[in-house]
Amino acid sequence: MRMGTQVRILVYAPSFSQASEASMAAFDRMEQLEWTFSDYRTNSELSRLNRDGAIAPRRVSDELFQVLHRSLEISSYSRGAFDITLGPLTQLWRQARRAGSPPTPKQIAQARRRTGFQNLILNSKERTVRFELAGMALDLGGIAKGYIADQALQVLQRRGLRSALVEAGGDIAIGAAPPGKAGWHIAIKGVQDELLALHDVGVATSGDEFQYLEIAGRRYSHIINPAIGVAVSDSSQVTVIAPDGMTADALATTLSVMTPAAGLELADSLDGVAAFIRSRSNEALRSRRFPSGRPALPPMRAGFVR
Ligand code: AMP
Ligand code: MG
Repeated sequence: MRMGTQVRILVYAPSFSQASEASMAAFDRMEQLEWTFSDYRTNSELSRLNRDGAIAPRRVSDELFQVLHRSLEISSYSRGAFDITLGPLTQLWRQARRAGSPPTPKQIAQARRRTGFQNLILNSKERTVRFELAGMALDLGGIAKGYIADQALQVLQRRGLRSALVEAGGDIAIGAAPPGKAGWHIAIKGVQDELLALHDVGVATSGDEFQYLEIAGRRYSHIINPAIGVAVSDSSQVTVIAPDGMTADALATTLSVMTPAAGLELADSLDGVAAFIRSRSNEALRSRRFPSGRPALPPMRAGFVR
């Protein structure tokens, strides 16, 4: 996870000082969570877990446990399309990008042997984690930003500032609507760009063109298809609306792995979840519950607008 990405907080408050104090508290909470989830801080809880492994059960923080638990739920109902144990593979593909050539089938096969969500064992009572295989490594890049946005939003809301929005690099946690409005305006870049008015949900977009890596002229996504260990290389864009930011984040990543038809079916099967997919052939596909918006001009990327 890279919290080096842009973070934005928008909040309505009775006074400037309340807005700024609450925002500072929310930023502090995000900074604190970086010490749990960051994969580039070598001393974060996640980095230490990956470095030391957990061949014997290991107790983790409540926050880390919550994210691991949700991750496994999403692995199970996506039949493994979402998988946080892909660490060895995501590292391999990151090296490939630096080297400028894709990994060999042998390297992929070797890394895959150290993956598989079934090999991550959680014990809710003891709040412990265990790795079934040596050399496993967790990658929370597909879910942690949504969780962090949710937590920052909660800080604002606990201070009574209910009309607020937190964005962490494309993952958005949305509170109550701005005073007197139907919702926060969220822009969806589709075949025809449109604006949605949303409140009390999480929204996430995955697989858009800014997140590609190019190796030898071919565009690969940062998202890996766990079934084959290969980076997804079509350019569909997926936007998911869910009851919270963590779920939206994880599902946007998940649906980027699945075929559009399977992804829409999964979205329809989950309470409070809706998905919009702009397919490789530039077709706009919506799950049943995806709200219709109003046209937005001029063209824009998925994200929020004021
Ligand atoms: P996102 O930008 O939220 O779609 O997350 C992409 C990131 O999730 C990648 O950079 C990896 O760190 C991680 N990731 C890649 N493939 C998967 C997958 N199939 N399941 C879960 N996480 C993944
Ligand atoms: Mg995601």
